[in-house]
Amino acid sequence: EEEKKKKKQPQTVTFGSNEASSMVKQLRQSFKSGKTKSYQWRVSQLKGIAKMVEERESDIVQALYQDLSKPPLEAFVAEISMAKSSCREAIEGLQDWMKPEKAKTGISTYPSTAEIVSDPLGVVLVISTWNFPFLLSIDPVIGAIAAGNAVVLKPSEIAPATSALLSKLVKDYLDDSAVKVVEGAIPETSALLDQQWDKILYTGSARVGRIVMAAAAKHLTPVVLELGGKCPAVVDSNVNLEVAVRRIIAGKWQCNNGQACIGVDYIITTKDFAPKLIEGLRKGIEEFFGKDPMESKDISRIVSPAQFKRLVGLLDEDNVSDKLVLGGRRDSTRLKIDPTIVLDPPQESQIMQEEIFGPLLPIVTVGNLKESFEVINSKPKPLAAYLFTEDEQLKQDFVENVPSGGMSINDTILHVTVHTMPFGGVGESGMGSYHGKFSFDAFSHKKSVLYRSFSGDASLRYPPYTPKKQMV
Ligand code: NAD
Repeated sequence: EEEKKKKKQPQTVTFGSNEASSMVKQLRQSFKSGKTKSYQWRVSQLKGIAKMVEERESDIVQALYQDLSKPPLEAFVAEISMAKSSCREAIEGLQDWMKPEKAKTGISTYPSTAEIVSDPLGVVLVISTWNFPFLLSIDPVIGAIAAGNAVVLKPSEIAPATSALLSKLVKDYLDDSAVKVVEGAIPETSALLDQQWDKILYTGSARVGRIVMAAAAKHLTPVVLELGGKCPAVVDSNVNLEVAVRRIIAGKWQCNNGQACIGVDYIITTKDFAPKLIEGLRKGIEEFFGKDPMESKDISRIVSPAQFKRLVGLLDEDNVSDKLVLGGRRDSTRLKIDPTIVLDPPQESQIMQEEIFGPLLPIVTVGNLKESFEVINSKPKPLAAYLFTEDEQLKQDFVENVPSGGMSINDTILHVTVHTMPFGGVGESGMGSYHGKFSFDAFSHKKSVLYRSFSGDASLRYPPYTPKKQMV
């Protein structure tokens, strides 16, 4: 009913191209004034974010609950504490990150010194998504500010409570002349994309990623695209089953109920081991979410009726619905679907073709795990890939033969928390990366500067090109 009412209301767009253009002008002036470049400004803004997260934690948890019925502990672990640590790392690292990096020079420029200077890019745009709507909005903003840019954040309209909260909090805690939030959906995002930016970081689907990249191309604006894909988990029979299933469940249902870009999309295991693994998963799911997971408070709901309908469609496809081995119940009023496992759906079925982004887990069986590389590599490159095994050779082969954005071996998700490593996709799962110092780098231009003195000016390099010079 609520949804219907909302749809009937005329959509008024208060933020169009004119508003976007004057906002960018204002931000450009702020950037040109030089204030965002100073270390003091950057740190004060980062401290502002840290303070905001600290003081408004309960509002953030509440907004995430409203948008996704995200369990408070999950909100804290996967969004709030990650944002806090990202902020802390930036504050602690900033002085070092900003220092020009010395570069070696050779005989051709002798005598000289050289350094790589990290220049702020200017005015940048961050477009975010709904599944981790707080973290995935604020984390790129931390990088943009650390690198000395003015920034506009466009959170996802599909997580409206978090979007509204971000808009309010950023005004209250940060410098409004250089950090802004624009709320809205396609019209507002399109108005923003018409403008000239110095960088765009987009998180979301590959379909919209293409729209963002095409808009950016008009202005030769570089982009970071944080997209998704079908992230596989290959499970060997020699694993500690109890630990492996817990980590798989954590990387699927515990993680926003499967609505996560690096969540496990499907499993590949051997025919022989599949029954044991399914039994292990069944037990593990019961241990985590009780006998009736639909009633568990420890699992998020599906974000929207549209996503619910899409997921039910994947499950109800012929040749998939008859492969059900666990779960399968759904409740459209509460937007809930059971943790659900299907065994060996055909590769041509939609559930094996598109990113699932929900609580459905296909298990694909093979004769030998080496065949898993073929299955994975027949699909676009995923954002993450997982392997559970004690076999060192298999680990090495997996790392060598599976091209993915990142990977965890014998675990899921956790590589994303290690901020000394870049986080990003490859191919269809995206381009560019961020996190930790990589966020600072993503929003900086690396300017090569060569310093020379007036001494040692070899005449050899100048015309006239006499035969004697040519001989040298
Ligand atoms: P979404 O619908 O929230 O869209 C993301 C953003 O794009 C929103 O801000 C939205 O307003 C904007 N948008 C939507 N349509 C647009 C259009 N036609 N023109 C301009 N802007 C538009 O999110 P989604 O796309 O449903 O997100 C899910 C996808 O995001 C999945 O593929 C997932 O894997 C990926 N994802 C990636 C990461 C990552 O870090 N790599 C993180 C989370 C999600």
